[in-house]
Amino acid sequence: MSGILYLVATPIGNLEDITLRAIRILKEADIVVAEDTRQTLKLLNHLEMQKHLISYHRHSGEDKVREIIEELKSGKNIALVSDAGTPVISDPGEEIVKEALKNEIAVIPIPGPCALITALIASGIDAKEFSFLGFLPLNKKFRKEKFNEIQTAINTVILYEAPHKLLSTLNALKNVTLNRKIVLARELTKIHEEFIMGTAEELLEKIIEPRGEYVIIIEKQEQISQDIFENMTLEEHYKYYESLRI
Ligand code: SAM
Repeated sequence: MSGILYLVATPIGNLEDITLRAIRILKEADIVVAEDTRQTLKLLNHLEMQKHLISYHRHSGEDKVREIIEELKSGKNIALVSDAGTPVISDPGEEIVKEALKNEIAVIPIPGPCALITALIASGIDAKEFSFLGFLPLNKKFRKEKFNEIQTAINTVILYEAPHKLLSTLNALKNVTLNRKIVLARELTKIHEEFIMGTAEELLEKIIEPRGEYVIIIEKQEQISQDIFENMTLEEHYKYYESLRI
């Protein structure tokens, strides 16, 4: 009989955030598949566990997926973890999940820390409906499409961003989000955790040298009311339509 593929969420900073179930599954698993084995070793050492580790990262090819599926087929239980947070969410794992399901192997999620949810719940921004866009694409065309999506978003938008790209992303956001509120959730669950609020322009003034990890939460586009629209001058109309183009 096939083993089970467990998708185990791990802490995004504070090691106390590991769940009791995650500890048990890690302990019981025959193999731990890790994005970066050195990173996962730190967690396993903290939990005083010694495990058979296999590395699986975004550059691992189909052969690695096949190897992991073969281990599952031979009856081994596997715990898949990423460096931090919930695997598969802007992290490796999706291909293994798809292949496991194709092979009728049971896939069990072990929920826990996830940066986007942790950021959203304390941001004060509407959490009823939201779009998570992950990391913005580097490709110019796709990037532009994402900025258009953010500009007209009728839901809260959540992004992941690397610190060295934060200022350029805020600069680009400035043109499409105008006066909309943005919250930067920084170093969540860590000693220097902070939530920084403002428009993109205000945030650019506040943040000189971005450090640590950031989640960006953007307030939705307020629907412009008919009233305001009818009372706009020609120049304001022009500015409004200009703001919709980037
Ligand atoms: N799968 C993980 C999750 O959903 O929790 C996210 C992994 S993704 C490769 C890493 C990105 O998540 C970072 O660049 C940052 O945007 C966000 N992130 C992860 N940990 C964070 C933290 N402690 N504080 C703020 N953002 C964090």
